[in-house]
Amino acid sequence: MAGMTHRVTLIPGDGIGPELAEATRRVLDASGVGFEWEVVDAGEAVIAEYGTPLPEHVLASIRKNRVALKGPITTPIGEGFRSVNVTLRQALNLYANVRPARSMAGLESRYENVDLVIVRENTEDLYAGIEHRVGRDAAESIKIITREASERIARYAFDYAVANGRRKVTAVHKANIMKLSDGLFLECCRAVAAEYEGRVAFEDRIVDNMCMQLVQKPEQYDVLVAPNLYGDIISDLAAGLVGGLGVAPGANIGTDAAVFEPVHGSAPKYAGLNRANPTALILSGVLMLRHLGEIEAAERVEDALRTVIAEGRTVTYDLGGTAGTSEFAEAIVARLEAAPGRTGGSRRPAASA
Ligand code: NAD
Repeated sequence: MAGMTHRVTLIPGDGIGPELAEATRRVLDASGVGFEWEVVDAGEAVIAEYGTPLPEHVLASIRKNRVALKGPITTPIGEGFRSVNVTLRQALNLYANVRPARSMAGLESRYENVDLVIVRENTEDLYAGIEHRVGRDAAESIKIITREASERIARYAFDYAVANGRRKVTAVHKANIMKLSDGLFLECCRAVAAEYEGRVAFEDRIVDNMCMQLVQKPEQYDVLVAPNLYGDIISDLAAGLVGGLGVAPGANIGTDAAVFEPVHGSAPKYAGLNRANPTALILSGVLMLRHLGEIEAAERVEDALRTVIAEGRTVTYDLGGTAGTSEFAEAIVARLEAAPGRTGGSRRPAASA
């Protein structure tokens, strides 16, 4: 609730995660909102101590606090342990992954006026992790689509549209080829859409066509709802429309907990160099502030960030500047401190995250 101290689990992550987490914590603390950060680690570095990259006490901390801010965590490619990020979402049943992509003044991009929100199903599809080798020269991955999860994510997308004054939901699928699995997803979206008729428009697009349409005329789209894999790919595409991965935030929402994290990964080649852009994690923090009911502080942080980006003097390499991660964050802190607002705000429904 606004006005109180919020206890939040902070998972810095690895790669560029820790430096981004530090920068984001500085900015959020400067917003005037009271935070008590419970810092816990996950990922490869903790395996030696706990025998797993996602120790039980990390999950317990999030279950207790119900809110976490998380940096990216490296996943070994083609071998090794299962993605901590995916396991976390499944273990806490964070069924909705909400990824806004909005144009910002000062961001180098081919497009203006992009304002998309990707609502990605977060618990099943090819991310169920059911794979096996068939002999030496073949492998199978099983795609799981259920009515329960599909209706739940469609309803989340429509509720989000209503709560945030959005006009249209577009379902993304490949039901022309995967007639049973994607066919069921589309059937569920259509059924839920009927309940919102007259309030929110509905349409569907085959995923390949969706990609082309987003590149050609992104301004025609609004809220997109997709199964897990298409949602992941389309959200990187959408990030590219508005200035890249460095500025794309995300929220993983469940009924009992919410974890806020950027779309991007741990970018190991920039780790420890004070070069990575903290915007995506800071904007994930803004989504978290809204989720916590700290609407006024969320707006102040976002305004300060947008002003620093629009001025273009103290931004990171990916935005055409030469500032480091920490200098960028300090410029935002300076703006917040120059125009302190009152703390607190009114509560918005969780769907606004
Ligand atoms: P990535 O997002 O880490 O990086 C891709 C490229 O995007 C980088 O090389 C960099 O050029 C740019 N970039 C990303 N974040 C940036 C930032 N904050 N500032 C400036 N530039 C930025 O993707 P990847 O290289 O495919 O993945 C690296 C690792 O991250 C993998 O192990 C992957 O599994 C993991 N990953 C984790 C998450 C997560 O924690 N939720 C998400 C995606 C990928």
